[in-house]
Amino acid sequence: MTIIDGKALSAKIKERVKKDCEELIAKGIKPTLAVILVGEDKASQTYVASKEKACIAAGMGSVMHRLGEQTTQNELLSLIEVLNKDDSIHGILVQLPLPKHLDTNEVLRRIDPNKDVDGFHALNVGKLNSGLDGFVPCTPLGIMEIFKEYNIDLVGKNALVIGRSNIVGKPMAALLLNAGATVTIAHSKTKNLAQISRSMDIIVVAIGKPKFLSADMVGEGAIIIDVGINRLDDGSLCGDADFEAIKDKCSFITPVPGGVGPMTIAMLLSNTIKSAKNELRA
Ligand code: NDP
Repeated sequence: MTIIDGKALSAKIKERVKKDCEELIAKGIKPTLAVILVGEDKASQTYVASKEKACIAAGMGSVMHRLGEQTTQNELLSLIEVLNKDDSIHGILVQLPLPKHLDTNEVLRRIDPNKDVDGFHALNVGKLNSGLDGFVPCTPLGIMEIFKEYNIDLVGKNALVIGRSNIVGKPMAALLLNAGATVTIAHSKTKNLAQISRSMDIIVVAIGKPKFLSADMVGEGAIIIDVGINRLDDGSLCGDADFEAIKDKCSFITPVPGGVGPMTIAMLLSNTIKSAKNELRA
């Protein structure tokens, strides 16, 4: 059994990003990410702070826009418009969730798809589903890097994605399908999940339910990718898989923390570099 080291892989990707960044700066382009945070959500504040820190550590530019809770839809769209037109900005990220009075779909739709480093714009979603090159959401993209790093061949594998969110489950399923896996997607309405999951070569679980994936749901030799980040009453973090109970049955497993989590920011930086390289080619 191999415990996948997402921290080490993310450090490796950040090194690659740093090198690419230096090369782009030498050519007159400083890859720069603009992050918009609306409101006071504590978790979102932590996330944007770590994104800013990671950009700076990689030598990239980071522009933070912290807007008040009462920001109107029009004010937010105007800022996005300014950033869309600003040639010094290569990536635009609106931290989700937005306060309830704002229309998230409309906000995401207004980000220039060429700067949509989160990969949530419908054009990029369509490209992913058509197997075309575009921006891919960072968490599933990071999981594909894990498969690559650990030489996990996906062709012909039976893969199960548990969770069908636009951020993780659906793009993950599309990536696995594009890579030649036979993909099943499960969600809260799926019947007989344990029966399905037991026969799978690969299980990606992304539902936000602590230790949901139990030993009786996993077959011998399965590869388990645990996206969940759940905080327990004692303050510790755990994933959606029952790591201790299933680890000895698996061939590979990602721990929480230290598995998928660190990959997400690394891929955000990597997507911003990709956007800056696109500008160089344009
Ligand atoms: P969402 O809440 O958007 O989606 C959860 C999905 O899980 C839904 O599709 C839901 O089904 C499904 N689901 C819920 N309960 C069950 C169940 N009992 N059986 C089967 N399916 C179920 O979550 P996200 O995709 O945004 O996030 C999932 C988890 O991943 C969270 O813990 C989150 O914190 C974590 N996460 C981690 C990231 C990282 O960087 N590592 C990045 C993003 C998320 P239905 O559609 O039917 O309601």
